[in-house]
Amino acid sequence: MSIKENLLEVEKNIQAACKRAGRNRDEVTLIAVSKTKPVSDIREAMDCGITVFGENKVQEIRDKTEEIKEPLHWHMIGHLQTNKVKYLPGKVDMIHSVDKLSLAEEIEKQSAKNDLVMDVLCEVNMAGEDTKFGLTPEETPEFVKKIAAFPHVRVRGLMTIAPYTEDPESNRVYFKGLYELMEALKKENIEGTQLDTLSMGMTGDYEVAIEEGATFVRVGTGIFGERDYSKK
Ligand SMILES: *Cc1c(COP(=O)(O)O)cnc(C)c1O
Repeated sequence: MSIKENLLEVEKNIQAACKRAGRNRDEVTLIAVSKTKPVSDIREAMDCGITVFGENKVQEIRDKTEEIKEPLHWHMIGHLQTNKVKYLPGKVDMIHSVDKLSLAEEIEKQSAKNDLVMDVLCEVNMAGEDTKFGLTPEETPEFVKKIAAFPHVRVRGLMTIAPYTEDPESNRVYFKGLYELMEALKKENIEGTQLDTLSMGMTGDYEVAIEEGATFVRVGTGIFGERDYSKK
């Protein structure tokens, strides 16, 4: 299927999930995850009206924003090394993967240098998988409070990467858990936060994530097809 056909399918699924959950379609933003995919694919998605793209490597964001001059919204969704943060202010709208104080400190420093406030999400490892980055749900509230005090970092919410599974229903518990964690944080009225964003759900499970309150879904394969990591 073409990128256009895939996008129509994803859009149909998003609308159906919103309907099932009694939510408005405009509460959910589709992030097209274009990592490893060429600029020509991104342009095809742009032609279909997509303006929000997700990448997981700083170098790829730098290369692609160098080539594509149209005003798009880029999101850093992958694990981020402290020494790469300096390339992101002004290039990305949001960093989804903040899970360490040292990383947040560097985002504060580089954002201050660029005279801007960076929107960030705290990544939570809901399933406790050893292979994944992220905070434990238990340590998340303290962490949010700490980095909320940084003047050039604005905590907008939480992000999770659920386990890979053939059965999206098995991830519902993690999406529900992230939603509840965020609701608990909202009740604390933490100064310096603006908790309105839940980034959860990928190709295999974005419909369940929407039913559980996702405001960003990050869909790669479902739009651009399988990724080929053998090329490079
Ligand atoms: C690659 C990636 C996605 C997209 O995954 P698909 O299964 O291809 O939709 C979403 N989120 C993150 C953090 C990713 O790295």
